[in-house]
This record gives sequence, C-alpha cells and structure tokens, in this order.
Amino acid sequence: MKIRSFFGKPGFYLQKAFPRFCAYCYLTVQKSVQHPYIKRYIRNFSAEKGPKLPLCVSFETINKCNGTCAFCPANTAFDKRERTVMPPEIFDKAIDDLKNAGFNANLVMCINNEPLLDPLLTERLEKARRALPDAKIQIYTNGSLLTPEKLDEFRGLVDKIIINNYTEEYALNKNIRKLVEKVNDEPEQFSGTQIIVEIRYRNAVLSNRGGLSPNKKAVRQQKYPCVMPFSDIAIYSDGSVGICSCDFSGVLTLGNVKESNVIELFNGEKYARMRESVIKTGRPDCGICEVCDFVGRSNTRLKAIKRKIRGERPYFG
Ligand code: SF4
Ligand code: SF4
Repeated sequence: MKIRSFFGKPGFYLQKAFPRFCAYCYLTVQKSVQHPYIKRYIRNFSAEKGPKLPLCVSFETINKCNGTCAFCPANTAFDKRERTVMPPEIFDKAIDDLKNAGFNANLVMCINNEPLLDPLLTERLEKARRALPDAKIQIYTNGSLLTPEKLDEFRGLVDKIIINNYTEEYALNKNIRKLVEKVNDEPEQFSGTQIIVEIRYRNAVLSNRGGLSPNKKAVRQQKYPCVMPFSDIAIYSDGSVGICSCDFSGVLTLGNVKESNVIELFNGEKYARMRESVIKTGRPDCGICEVCDFVGRSNTRLKAIKRKIRGERPYFG
C-alpha cells in the first residue's frame, strides 16, 4: 500500500492557501508536459486502420456520491440527479461488447460517483473479471465505505484501488487510517491488489470540468487538444455512453448500450465528428468542451498514452 500526495504536505497546504494559483500552475505544467505525447497519440490514432479500442472504459454504476468535494458537481450539496443504479443487464451487455472486441486495457469503476454505494458492485466486478481477464480493473473511491472486509471481497477481482482521502487538513481520515493499519498488519492478505491512498485537499480548485465545476467557472475557448474522444468511453447508470467524466450533465451522450455496441459507438460517426473537431480546433464540437480547461489526463493516465505510443499494453501507471 502506498500513501501519497501531490508534492506532499507542502503541496497540500499550498493548494489550501492559494487554490486558484495552484490550479493555474498545475494545468500549465500538465499542458506543457503532456502536449507532445497527446499530439503524437492523436496522430497515431488517426493513422491507424480498422476498428480501434479505447484506452479506458469507465462505468458509473450508480449516479450518486456521499462526498463533499468543493470542485466536484457530484458533491452532495450540488448533485440533483435522481438516484439510478445501473440495471445488471446493461452492465453485462457492455462487458460482453468489450469482451467480444478483445478489450484489454483499463476498466475504471467510477465517473462522477462513489462506486461503493452500488449494492451490486462485487457481482459486477466478478462478471468483468471473468469476461476481461487481461483488462486492468480499477476502482476510484473516497474510501468512506471501504472496510477490510470489502477489500477482502475485491481480492482477485480488482487490480488497483485508488483511495482518495479527501480532507481539509493533511491527515488520513479515521476509517482510512484503520484500513491502512489493517493492510500494513497483514500485507500478504492484500498482496494481489495495488492499493494507493492519495491525500487530497477537499476544497481544491482543479479544472473547471467543462464549466460544470461548482468552484471554477467556464473559460474562453482552449486550443489545447483534448484527448478524451480518442481514448475514453464513459458509460452511465442508464446505459448512455459519453466520452468524458467532466460531462456531468450528459450533453456529450453519443448513444446507449441498450441499443448499440459500445465499441461500434467508439468507432462510429459521432465519435469521429468529435475527433475531427479536436484536430481542427483543439476541442470537441460541444458547448461544454468549448469552455473546458481540463488537460485531459493525470500523470497515471498519461502513462497509458506513453505505453500505447511505445506499442505496449496501455495500462495506467
Ligand atoms: S470527487 Fe469523488 S468523492 Fe468527491 S464528491 Fe466527486 S465523486 Fe464524490
Ligand atoms: S473538452 Fe473537456 S468536457 Fe470536452 S471531452 Fe474534453 S475534457 Fe471532456
């Protein structure tokens, strides 16, 4: 188990003291570091013949969160979505589509939600693990509902769990501290799963998430190319398919798993139009994209892009 934080304790308190300045620096540095790789990845992607596979498929199997992060539209004070749990047949259909296409990259159980609120999560993971043995299955969670027993349940099903310890002071939340103690006491019990605890400032200012972040508003049009239409599929609890976790309001919906094959959608006309728009203007042709300052990839996810460029299996770092 690793415990980490962006630039450690000083980074945490800098974010707290100068949230907007830190967000500006972070996005500026990310852009300059990532730009060459993203441009190259998009170029290679466009030159590739035949049907393509995404680097990452994310599922929102329940559209609710119990978190209070100031930057996130899914926080309990902001989110007005009606609670929906993804029906098992929708999840199974999406997984079958991925299996039939030979998907073997990153499968993430989280978009704008807390995945452990989903009562069917373990069954879904079992299904995904059986169908996609080579995919890297990952859960992003705020850790509030994660117990040692739950971790045990996920054993053999999940490759990586990222526990975002959102907090206002640089410390582990009580239940996460207990979890860390448990894993450190019995490391062999949890050895099959990479577990990472990220200490994150709950009121941070990050990207504006297509102008939908509660604590950062829309910006003028960015020219920086957004990689999401070339790399990602997001599947929401009602089966609708979009391209990006910033799309909290579902305006980038390109189809529905119930009627369409997930990989055919990724290779279909609507995705192609978004990509053409990125190549021409830097951003997909959509209102939220025009005002979005999202860089597109975390460092962990950038590793998948680098691996893909090198011709390796494009797992996240
Ligand atoms: S960032 Fe995650 S934990 Fe925080 S409110 Fe959003 S979905 Fe919930
Ligand atoms: S521009 Fe922003 S909202 Fe649009 S696809 Fe990219 S990251 Fe998502």
